[in-house]
Amino acid sequence: MAEPGEEEAVSAEASGFSDMSDSEFLDLEDSQELRAPLSKPSPSSELPGKDGKPISLPKWERGLAVSSPMERFQLRYLCVTDLSTQDWCEQQMVYGKELPGSLSPEKAAVLDTGASIHLARELEVHDLVTIPITSKEDTWAVKFLNMLSMIPTLQSGGHIREFPVFGEVEGVLLVGVIDELHYTAKGELELVELKTRRGPVLPLEAQKKKDRFQVSLYKYIFDAMVQGKVAAARLLHHAKLHPEKPLGPSVLKHAQRGGFSVTSLGDLMELVFLSLTLSDLPVIDILKIEYIHQETAALLGSEIVFFEEKELRNKVQHYLAYWVGRREPQGVDVEEAWKCRTCSYAGICEWRKGGAAHSSMLAPQTK
Ligand code: SF4
Repeated sequence: MAEPGEEEAVSAEASGFSDMSDSEFLDLEDSQELRAPLSKPSPSSELPGKDGKPISLPKWERGLAVSSPMERFQLRYLCVTDLSTQDWCEQQMVYGKELPGSLSPEKAAVLDTGASIHLARELEVHDLVTIPITSKEDTWAVKFLNMLSMIPTLQSGGHIREFPVFGEVEGVLLVGVIDELHYTAKGELELVELKTRRGPVLPLEAQKKKDRFQVSLYKYIFDAMVQGKVAAARLLHHAKLHPEKPLGPSVLKHAQRGGFSVTSLGDLMELVFLSLTLSDLPVIDILKIEYIHQETAALLGSEIVFFEEKELRNKVQHYLAYWVGRREPQGVDVEEAWKCRTCSYAGICEWRKGGAAHSSMLAPQTK
């Protein structure tokens, strides 16, 4: 039980959200998604142009007629980490979804350790309770209850951890979890993203780039939420939720304990959207990434990220074009062919076999 004045949150595991603690998926240079995939590989047989722009090929057009990746993977929404993993290598991210269970025990252990560190940090600010859920509406209700308990804590100057964010971007519902939010001594709202490292060294620039993209996307979504730009109807539409459906008994009990008199998801959503827009929460001022050594918990370094909205939007548009079926996945660009050396899918990668990475390593291309 939480002490009076302490915040209490429902555990991510209990809520059934695989995205609730998503940051650990990014701590490996060759990270792969763990979320379950549903179809056999459909490797590319053609290579797109160097400029990265979608190219119309007959095969792609035939693929479009069948289904988009969102449909093939039966996804209602994407996690922020789905997109940031694309930033490392889109083709690798796709293989990770299509070929589950290929994560080595060593990498799985690294992820487990990182998740434990995140959990320990979360427990510093609130207790976790497990709540049985009976429907997807319950799952979202738990997410909303967590938000409703965190917003007042943040307003009163406290730290909050594992804050859910969601919003429609380019017609796709994106969800994520912000590691930490707090106000600085100057009164600025600061986001802190914790990245744990297996070795006592800072990541490569390519990994940092991916991390910067991730936190920038969190800010983009969070800012839209507090500015009232997220429409409840779009969330219901994408997640295929029934707002009138009564919540399960355990969720209802938890809501009552928190002082919320609700019976359905719709009631809760109303409270959340009001709370977000009427609480005077500002947009995020500072984006900070902290790199921590897993074994010693030593801070290896931190970085303040400059938010570039136009660049972010361009990237998001490009990544989502794959998800909605406007183009096929792309492997790494010529300059980043070194990523293939540590990639678990190097042996089967059609992009690599196609020669883009190889040939360019031997013969530098003119930009
Ligand atoms: S082999 Fe290279 S291009 Fe292919 S998935 Fe791995 S990193 Fe990406």
